[in-house]
Amino acid sequence: MQQVTLEQVKQMASDARQAIWDLAKQNGREPKIYLHWSAGHYGQFFNDYHLNIDKDGTIYASTDDLSAVLAHTYMRNSGAVGISLACAFGANTSDLGAEPPTPAQIEAMAQVINAVADGLWLTIDKEHVMTHGEAADNEDGLQASDAYGPKSTCERWDLEFLGTKESPVYNPYATDGTRGGDVLRGKANWYRKQEG
Ligand SMILES: [Zn+2]
Repeated sequence: MQQVTLEQVKQMASDARQAIWDLAKQNGREPKIYLHWSAGHYGQFFNDYHLNIDKDGTIYASTDDLSAVLAHTYMRNSGAVGISLACAFGANTSDLGAEPPTPAQIEAMAQVINAVADGLWLTIDKEHVMTHGEAADNEDGLQASDAYGPKSTCERWDLEFLGTKESPVYNPYATDGTRGGDVLRGKANWYRKQEG
């Protein structure tokens, strides 16, 4: 794992832009950014994701090639970038446990989404940026696989909730039932606006 800055992430995305678009087009779609949590511990990173974000918002890259096809999102990995928060060990849908997403992680993920989308020339919307949970339910209309997200089998529900009523101290976001994907895209677009 290599620690990287937002500027470096943007450059990596820019460098991989053509290859990622080519891979996506070969699969009849546009590039995607998929948002995960690891369901592991803080400080524990995985090579299945291009980018891992730690508890304090520090960003780590598992590869310097964002077009590398890694195993993060079932049937959707070609022409896609996987970003994960190192957190959510033992989380369930009513209690995110002792290692929930931190505010620093959520802000960093929003900034990383913006940096990758800038480099790839993508709009930040559900067509291009989805949580694993949203992707698992094919919410972009692309029937990549049978649904397995929070609206169906709930096998994967990464970032569906950024906070729960049971652990509001650690989770200031989206305790009102707003979906995590909407919060993250909203924040990413806010960061994009600041660039002018
Ligand atoms: Zn996932």
